[in-house]
Amino acid sequence: MKAHVLKSSGNMKYENVDIMEPNANQVQVQVKACGICGTDLHAYAGKHDAIKYPVILGHELSGVVNKTGKYVKNLNIGDRVVVDPNITCGYCDNCKNGKVNFCENMKSVGINYPGGFGEFVTVPEKVVYKIPDNITFKQAAIAEPISCIVHAFENTDVKNGGSAVILGTGFIGLTFLQILKGMGYYPIYIMGRNLFRNRLAEKFGADKILDNIYSLMKSDIVNRASLVVETTGNAEILSKTVDIVSDSGKIFAFAVYPPEEQMKIEANKIYKKEITIIGDFLNPNTMEKAIHMIGSRLIDADTMEDMELKPDQANKIFENKSKNYIKPIISFE
Ligand SMILES: [Zn+2]
Ligand SMILES: [Zn+2]
Repeated sequence: MKAHVLKSSGNMKYENVDIMEPNANQVQVQVKACGICGTDLHAYAGKHDAIKYPVILGHELSGVVNKTGKYVKNLNIGDRVVVDPNITCGYCDNCKNGKVNFCENMKSVGINYPGGFGEFVTVPEKVVYKIPDNITFKQAAIAEPISCIVHAFENTDVKNGGSAVILGTGFIGLTFLQILKGMGYYPIYIMGRNLFRNRLAEKFGADKILDNIYSLMKSDIVNRASLVVETTGNAEILSKTVDIVSDSGKIFAFAVYPPEEQMKIEANKIYKKEITIIGDFLNPNTMEKAIHMIGSRLIDADTMEDMELKPDQANKIFENKSKNYIKPIISFE
């Protein structure tokens, strides 16, 4: 098969590689669509500490079951599916205690296991989920990032309604915007620098768009947001959230922050305002819910998937510095 193989940072080759044959518990999926996300850009730039070269990137993928191992029970050749990229071992202490996102032997498709920037992936049956007929392969490809957002809500008792601030207008920020609108949040302020992305924030109903953290800190939402969602990955911006959040408010730290980076906050505010800061790591048992959220059209996948690439053009995105897109998708159809 043809695949983009990342050999070292910045060095990706589109070449022929062997297709993995499924073992007894695995299925081979013919990839139909694969999203490209910030993690892929980080990996390409050599800024992802879990990457094992050479690797085929791509962890947001959908396709059709092409082959099944002999112990595979619930999937058949021809089934339309999405793949949860996080393959857990099932026997470490964290897996046994139900904390599967902290599996000590985690293999991640497209990080340290061959991913969706190629024509086929071969993975255990347990990470493959059927998709309903009313969802296209391209729409289904974003189930994985959405499943991580579902986990954020499952991690705490966030209530419907209230006021919210979303920091960042990338795919994650704009997806939170649509979900929080659906939950009745008002007003929702969003901060983003990129004018192209800000226009989409407007389309998705943001009540106020501010193009930097300083104007946000001067606005009337300071100390008033019952929920603050930080998606920029900038620790300094995260540190400001304790000033934005209301008394007894909640903060989602929903980004990958540079390892070792510290932040300074006024500690007394955590106590006095009864602030909860919630970290969210991966997507334990939330893929099916994400698939339903896409099917319900709560999330406008078609508008966010605004750049379609042919399989041999996937590398183009890594040289594109414009960021004038939300979610590029490699389409194999
Ligand atoms: Zn991703
Ligand atoms: Zn485990």
